[in-house]
Amino acid sequence: MSKTTPSFNQEIDRRHESLIALRRDFHRHPELSFEERRTAAIIAERLHATGMDVRTGVGRTGVVGVLHGDRPGRTIAWRADIDALPLNESLDQPFVSGTPGVMHACGHDGHGAIAITLAEILAARRRDVPGTAVFIFQPAEEIFGGAKPMIEAGVLDRPHVDEVYGLHLTTQTPVGHVGLRPGPSMASADFFDVVVTGQGGHGAYPHLSMDPITAAANILVGMQNLVSREVAAQETAVLTVGQFVGGTKHNIIPASAVLRGSLRTFNPRVREQIKERLIAYASHVARAYRTEAHLSWMGEGCPTVVNHGKETDFARRCAIDAIGPDAVHDGDLVMASDDMSLFLQERPGCYFRVGIAPLDDRPHPHHAPEFEMNEDGLPVGLRVGLNVMLTALQG
Ligand SMILES: [Zn+2]
Ligand SMILES: [Zn+2]
Repeated sequence: MSKTTPSFNQEIDRRHESLIALRRDFHRHPELSFEERRTAAIIAERLHATGMDVRTGVGRTGVVGVLHGDRPGRTIAWRADIDALPLNESLDQPFVSGTPGVMHACGHDGHGAIAITLAEILAARRRDVPGTAVFIFQPAEEIFGGAKPMIEAGVLDRPHVDEVYGLHLTTQTPVGHVGLRPGPSMASADFFDVVVTGQGGHGAYPHLSMDPITAAANILVGMQNLVSREVAAQETAVLTVGQFVGGTKHNIIPASAVLRGSLRTFNPRVREQIKERLIAYASHVARAYRTEAHLSWMGEGCPTVVNHGKETDFARRCAIDAIGPDAVHDGDLVMASDDMSLFLQERPGCYFRVGIAPLDDRPHPHHAPEFEMNEDGLPVGLRVGLNVMLTALQG
């Protein structure tokens, strides 16, 4: 099964220092979604140096590298996301973010470093590589904005990609371990605004006004009941209102109030059902309070990551082969979302998770100022990724 020969493993060991250094460099210089210009320039420069075909500015700030192996084989893509988040890093390391208010707090610095190193290894051993490897460096994952324009730019079509793989580092999994799950594995995400409009007035005379605060509060509470009453018990949906804005003072009834929230599901039918029902629900509850509510969904949202069964089994065998059966697990359902889902809607493949949990007892959640990765997970991800790519290219 394994195509990773001892000489390929030597390449991984030999590049250990440069893998870590590259991740730290990206970490020191994080860039927000669609602003990944320095990151993209480094990726392009490194890929150019290997002699592969490189396209920049794909889907705005994305980069694609295409490596034609010397032997016939299939065309397999590896996708890595490269953007950072609007956060102030709270850790004290020599390589912490040098850009105030921007931080790699999701591990995408590691995704970029692994993908570049993977590309460099395959390019260096081109004579032993069958088929065509396509490396997709995607911008703007954090705002679910980068996958679509890259797909529309033809990254899966020119050349025609047979399968697509990738990994996400996670502090929820111990270092040295990998999780894979066939079928739905990461939730869909949709964001909404509810604007409730009434008639402002004096707090002493609510009967002379139309109070949007009370209406919005009832919409908020009722939304949770709607999820529990309309989603089958076997299914899952999480609805969170993260922002409630309205009013200026104790005794003034304002003219409007706004709720902002998110919906996550695993089943596309549940997703569509709840999205539709929430629109009707908000407006009907508002009317009971003599107000009006308009619920709008922002953009197209992000669909569920659905791993393909055959390709997930295949990736699992490659992972076991690379790091041993004790280190490979069934991944948990993850309520977070990722626009890798759009690539997996277009081509079969698998998106797996690689552990980077630090060894201390403190929490290091993703998307938080305290996020920190255990870099020992990086070569593990590289080892599994290399075996997946080499074996898939061979077919
Ligand atoms: Zn993230
Ligand atoms: Zn992420």
